[in-house]
Amino acid sequence: MADDLNARLIDAAVAAIDRNAEELTSLDQAIGDGDHGINMKRGFQAVAETRDDLAALTLPAALQKAGMTLVMKVGGASGPLYGSLFMAMGKALDGNPGSLDQVAAMLANGVDAVKQRGKSDAGEKTMLDVLVPVSQRLQAAAAEGAAGADLLNGLRATAQAGLESTRDMRATKGRASFLGARSVGHLDPGARSSQLLIEAVCQVIGENEA
Ligand code: ADP
Ligand code: MG
Repeated sequence: MADDLNARLIDAAVAAIDRNAEELTSLDQAIGDGDHGINMKRGFQAVAETRDDLAALTLPAALQKAGMTLVMKVGGASGPLYGSLFMAMGKALDGNPGSLDQVAAMLANGVDAVKQRGKSDAGEKTMLDVLVPVSQRLQAAAAEGAAGADLLNGLRATAQAGLESTRDMRATKGRASFLGARSVGHLDPGARSSQLLIEAVCQVIGENEA
């Protein structure tokens, strides 16, 4: 694993959120309070400010630290949820992951933490509709020994399909649940931010392997 992986992951995540902050906000205007883009941008900018510190850490240690920053800076419902995701991913391992199995275990631990914190699961029109299927696909890939571009493309497609699946769902968690049936017909903003982050990670890993 390249030494500057943490820095490249941070740069890619920050850029993805930055580029798409307005879209995240307009998605949240449709079924929430319109702050998801601003929340995410503020949180990831704060992570970017700790870039040099995070670059010197192992991936799990960097994830834990970034998670704490996200809890403090993102705010809203999504801050504690993304914070839990990152912190629990980091707590799953002592040192850098040495196998796809370990990467899959990290994500699974993170996703479990989001479920617990959000008292939620896939099917409720949230970020979990992206995170749960991606985590499951990664675990399956690790078991099958899949790797390389096929694996990355599969994860990207799974994230995209998970995002699209939220359009026809009725929200039962978070602010969007206040809209009841009127939440149907819109993509979930948190699902879109999760898909953007997965896309960014896959891109960095793909460049790493190329
Ligand atoms: P807020 O809803 O407080 O304004 P944000 O707009 O930043 O916070 O984030 C909203 C997103 O958070 C939603 O689109 C959804 O994906 C996610 N979310 C909200 N509540 C939950 C929950 N209980 N479990 C999982 N995700 C949730
Ligand atoms: Mg909001």
